[in-house]
Amino acid sequence: MRENWHERFAETPDVLKSAWRQQTVVPVLDIEIGGGDFITMAGPCAVETEFQLMATANHVRRAGARILRGGAFKPRSSPYAFQGHALEGLKMLAHAREESGLAIVTEVMSEEDVPMVAEYADILQIGTRSMENYSLLEAAARSGRPILLKRGMVATIADLLRSAQLILDNGNPNVILCERGIRTFETATRNTFDVAAIALLKQISHLPVIADPSHAAGHRDLVPALARIAVAAGADGLLVEVHPNPDKAWSDGEQSLDFEGFDDMMADLDPWLALRERGLAKRERGLPRREAIGSRSMEAVG
Ligand code: PEP
Ligand code: MN
Repeated sequence: MRENWHERFAETPDVLKSAWRQQTVVPVLDIEIGGGDFITMAGPCAVETEFQLMATANHVRRAGARILRGGAFKPRSSPYAFQGHALEGLKMLAHAREESGLAIVTEVMSEEDVPMVAEYADILQIGTRSMENYSLLEAAARSGRPILLKRGMVATIADLLRSAQLILDNGNPNVILCERGIRTFETATRNTFDVAAIALLKQISHLPVIADPSHAAGHRDLVPALARIAVAAGADGLLVEVHPNPDKAWSDGEQSLDFEGFDDMMADLDPWLALRERGLAKRERGLPRREAIGSRSMEAVG
């Protein structure tokens, strides 16, 4: 029997596709997330210096990114590690938006900081460690800014959808889901990239889905392959860490692409995106799909 996803996720009805809501398109400046264009958000893990941020913004824009990422508030495992430049970092991001025209996505970690972060950012990022901080989610929702909701590292898909539902319940329809890898027994990669979650979320939810191959992989060499897989799984875009000199990055250098690596990744994605476009166009025209033909002949032999 086929899974009835609507029954399975019945406690979060508003995040599920329905006859009248098939796809939410989140508007951010002149960008539409979930609207068919593949949107790349790129930039450093943390905002470090004006030079680092501007150089990265200019580079990723030229390579096709539409949104600049960068943390001004950094959730770190160690309390002694760099925690971010806070307000100074937000100002640098706003300046980078002015100079580059890119929209800004940045993390907000506490309820009290929501008004300040919302003043400078175009999208509020809720980090993996905060996905179940419901008072933060409510405050972020009420700011009216679009929310990039990262999946908790030990959160199920149902948990992620519950958090998304809470944001919708607080009057904010502009939620973007983000798969960034989950904790499993595997330790070779930083997290386990749950590609099935992307495919499932695209099937059952009308909310846009963004993939973060950087935090999933933890190693820059794996980022382009995971980005390709995200395209094939149907993601609406990417969140990728890029740094002018990853070996000198103040955080997450190991998983950050340098400029050349980012250019290569973007160029490498083009044929895969074109392939996906062709498949979608075919489906819209009602032409037979290869899978459909394939499954019929499988039945014939089985
Ligand atoms: C980040 O985007 O830099 C970050 C801290 O991500 P996550 O919350 O997924 O670990
Ligand atoms: Mn990071």
